[in-house]
Amino acid sequence: EDKPTQSQTDVLIIGAGPSGLMAAYWMARYGVNARIIDNRDTKVFLGHADGLRARTLELFDSMGFQHRVIQEGSISTEANIWVPGPQGNIIRQAQIDIFRVDESPFHNTRLNQGRIERFILDSIREHSDLDVERSVIADSLEYDEELSNDPNSYPITVKVRVLGEDDSNPLCGQEIENGAEAAGNVVNRSNLLPDDWADLAPRRKPQRTQVETIKAKYLIGCDGAHSWTRKQLNIPVEGSNTDHIWGVIDVIPLTDFPDIRRVSVVNNAAGTILVIPRERGLVRFYVPVQTCEAGATDRFDRSKITRELIRARVQAILAPFTFDFKECSWWTVYQVGQRIATQSTKDNRIFLAGDAVHTHSPKMGLGMNMSMQDGFNVGWKIALVVAGTLKPEVLETYASERHPLAEMLLDFDRHWSPMFTDRKPGVADTKASDIARIGGRFEDFADGWKVFYPASSLVRKAEDNAEFAFARHMIPGERVRPVKLRNQADGGALWTTRVLESDGPFRILVLAGDIRNPMQKQRLETLARVLAGQPGSSVSPLSRYLEIPGRFKSPVDVLTIHASPWKEVELFDFPEVLRPFDRVTGWAYDKIWCDDACIFDRYCDGTAYEKWGVDRVLGALVVVRPDQYIGWVGELGDVEELTQYLDGILVKKSSTNGVHPAL
Ligand code: FAD
Repeated sequence: EDKPTQSQTDVLIIGAGPSGLMAAYWMARYGVNARIIDNRDTKVFLGHADGLRARTLELFDSMGFQHRVIQEGSISTEANIWVPGPQGNIIRQAQIDIFRVDESPFHNTRLNQGRIERFILDSIREHSDLDVERSVIADSLEYDEELSNDPNSYPITVKVRVLGEDDSNPLCGQEIENGAEAAGNVVNRSNLLPDDWADLAPRRKPQRTQVETIKAKYLIGCDGAHSWTRKQLNIPVEGSNTDHIWGVIDVIPLTDFPDIRRVSVVNNAAGTILVIPRERGLVRFYVPVQTCEAGATDRFDRSKITRELIRARVQAILAPFTFDFKECSWWTVYQVGQRIATQSTKDNRIFLAGDAVHTHSPKMGLGMNMSMQDGFNVGWKIALVVAGTLKPEVLETYASERHPLAEMLLDFDRHWSPMFTDRKPGVADTKASDIARIGGRFEDFADGWKVFYPASSLVRKAEDNAEFAFARHMIPGERVRPVKLRNQADGGALWTTRVLESDGPFRILVLAGDIRNPMQKQRLETLARVLAGQPGSSVSPLSRYLEIPGRFKSPVDVLTIHASPWKEVELFDFPEVLRPFDRVTGWAYDKIWCDDACIFDRYCDGTAYEKWGVDRVLGALVVVRPDQYIGWVGELGDVEELTQYLDGILVKKSSTNGVHPAL
């Protein structure tokens, strides 16, 4: 081994799966000094998780790559339940809608994890030169608790091994979980899209293994179900002491089963399978194989669960329909139990995200979604704290916002999973109603429409959790319900998921109401004077907080959405601070939006104010966090209260010169 080297980074992310990449996205967006390591030689290409829920897709839209998911993914709009029929056959018992048109522009979509990782990696590259360091294993962790209260200290020391050609890494390589020799999991150019080819070859390794000591201010352990970070911190997991073992195959099916391109649960005397249509003609089959004691990998013989066994199980359960395949792109034996880590942070300096916190059955298609949303939540907060703009105390909200959701996830799985694993043949007739009932109960949570983030410095709730009268459906702690708006300058229509881009700043939404009304116009002008920091008004919330050097002049931005008819007002009717001028880029045409119907787009129907519960004349004032969740709601005149909210979370410029203390 070469001589150990030492280095420093503000943020170290261990694990470049979906949760780690989401956290890294924010490091890239804010230009934070960060590193992300992974012990695998290459990214995931095939298989693994494939379910994408509406809220995750909204986040992708805000990150700028949802169009790629739409282009490649397969949308599921209903689930079909098949049960034993009268003549030894199977019959379709129910078709259950699994979409809600009015909640989100996006629907349940299937696309393999490798593609999602591709899109996030591309997005990271677009905004920074942060790159995943592969074949790098975290080996030891030391944490100096005494430094935990000093945000500028480096209390974390991680020793990593950069694998050399002399060191074989038993943990990485493709699909070791099946045994690398497993047929059907061969990754090559022919079964990948061209933009993944460059990642196919493992990076060139150094000749000999190297050891590096990394000192970090913050650490995010996104290192999966067997989380190394969690174990270093001695954080126990709680939950079921049973593991379920699933056979999973991704194949191009040859079958006369009529619902092969629709999500289906098929249940007969031979067992239960889940059928999930996928991209590029693939269909995934989940086959419960058996249960065993938690972690008892040695108690059952994995080698007995073969691709042929899974094929035979699917054939038996789909009979008398025929089933076979010639092409199998991926298969695995997937062992998982319902478990949750008792903590998701150590002193708000070390965080766990994704499967490192929660594991459960793959049946709800939620693992990757929850993991990415964890990484997204912790990522922007840590990045902004490191940038010196967000108060470190706000980091407490990672655990208070995400941990209860992890508990809810396990609760859902406890209700949902037995319908696939514990059902006995003959009780199948209750299945459809059970699935509809349990699915309905957890729908808001599972699709991410409601997240139930509690009151905190980041979420200012109305007293007794009442609604704010001026924006009844803008609930602090929930995401902005997506609507389509018209751009005032060019008349084009966009969903708010795209307008409220995940590009960094907090956003003050000026819901200006109807500015044809002279009184309302006056209220808007008064607000604009305060925002512009004109003489006589107190310091503007737009210039009050520390900038992020090289990225943002202010961590607070402003966006106006009015309710006057589009043709009856002009961009220049709005005060300049709402559509500022830049010497190079000109007027900010993307800052003024209109809630009006649009003849060429039926989703842009002028109902945003109604959906948000806002008066069309009087409007409202709303603060949206960088992750599109609502932080604060008030009236147009409530700038003082708004500033108090922001003062609670953002670091003010020093009163003398407004210079960043880190410079
Ligand atoms: P992961 O995606 O597990 O990423 C963790 C990363 O950390 C890995 O790349 C790992 O190599 C790296 N790492 C771990 N320890 C270290 C260390 N000490 N040093 C450096 N790097 C480290 N979900 C489904 O819904 N359906 C499925 O069919 C399904 N199949 C799966 C099959 C397999 C084989 C696996 C492993 C997972 C499967 N999942 C499935 C689960 C799904 O992939 C996860 O829920 C999701 O990926 C969680 O994302 P994550 O980022 O939290 O963790």
